[in-house]
Amino acid sequence: MTGKTHSSAGLLIGAMVATHFELDLFESVTAIVIAGIASIFPDICHTRSKIGQRLKILSFIVKHLFGHRTFTHSLLFIILSYYLLTLIQTPLYYMISIICGMLSHVILDMLTPRGVRLLFPLPIRVRFPIHFRTGGLVDLSLASTFTLLTVYILFETPIKRVLITWI
Ligand SMILES: [Zn+2]
Repeated sequence: MTGKTHSSAGLLIGAMVATHFELDLFESVTAIVIAGIASIFPDICHTRSKIGQRLKILSFIVKHLFGHRTFTHSLLFIILSYYLLTLIQTPLYYMISIICGMLSHVILDMLTPRGVRLLFPLPIRVRFPIHFRTGGLVDLSLASTFTLLTVYILFETPIKRVLITWI
């Protein structure tokens, strides 16, 4: 999937977390931003990805150590991240934003023909029975759907309030 699809899924997760936990403005923005970053972070293994271009040295190291869509797209990576976040006592709502952001990335990549090495270090590529081309119509439609849902979730209450005062 494209970086746009991944990041729009992350923003949607952040918006859902913010609404569910009734976070204040600062926490909501933080949750949305970190979920967005977490949703593109696994592509650190790809030097030309959005995140890879920002963190060139780290990306170069990860790419040469593990290869594309391996360690950073695995359950092991997500579990290790969870432990690391627990260690630094990350609040639950940020924890969910990050872990779900990363999970959304892996799930979306499992919808592409190449799949991911979900069970790394086992050399098995995992993908869903149905898969779609990166940059294809389904990819773009997913990005638009996620974006629309994010806008809806974030503005649902203010819109309703405005409507109530007008009617
Ligand atoms: Zn990926």
